[in-house]
Amino acid sequence: MFRALYLVGLIVGSTVRGICTRRYRPSAAADERRSGLDSALRRVASVGLLVLPLVYVLTPWLDFADYGLPMWTGGVGGVVFAAAVWLLWRFHVDLGRNWSSTLQVNVEHTLVTQGVYRQVRHPMYAAHWLWAVAQLLLLHNWIAGPALLVLFLPLYILRVRREEQMMLDHFGEEYRAYIKRTGRVLPLSISKYWGKSLLS
Ligand code: SAH
Repeated sequence: MFRALYLVGLIVGSTVRGICTRRYRPSAAADERRSGLDSALRRVASVGLLVLPLVYVLTPWLDFADYGLPMWTGGVGGVVFAAAVWLLWRFHVDLGRNWSSTLQVNVEHTLVTQGVYRQVRHPMYAAHWLWAVAQLLLLHNWIAGPALLVLFLPLYILRVRREEQMMLDHFGEEYRAYIKRTGRVLPLSISKYWGKSLLS
């Protein structure tokens, strides 16, 4: 049953993503910071996001690595998945045409600090973390369950500092002040208790 719930979440989430990326296409890049490693790590993350979960849900090949978790974890997973999909949609609406799949600042780029960006600087990455937690709670399998948590981490680590440096290069003091009043993926009101970290 939880596999089916996961599949529904995956289809709804991918549809929201597909619609939004088409609607909010970025304008021409003024500063593009492509890297081979970034593209490679994006592919690695998509193995955790799509390939392994789909293999698990649609075939019996990974069933040997199943384990049992209490039923309530699946229920919580469904709620977390819904939150991830909501955040995916909200961040796209708030970021608008400033969105891009690679690191770039566009010709008509504006710094967004409103909506979900009022609390956290990286709501899109936060949505990915929520999705990863939902996957862990819904797919009770040692390979498919933690796949996104493990395979998204290298991309997040590589990206988040480079992206913030790029924003500082373009928006200077405005972005520095924004950093001071927000957390990375956790709101400052939660993360201030354990100081600056990769997530805060
Ligand atoms: N890291 C953000 C955005 C991901 S999309 C998030 O997790 O929500 C990646 C692009 O968004 C980057 O290339 C950067 O140009 C742009 N970006 C990141 N933060 C932004 C902000 N606060 N305002 C405008 N553009 C931003």
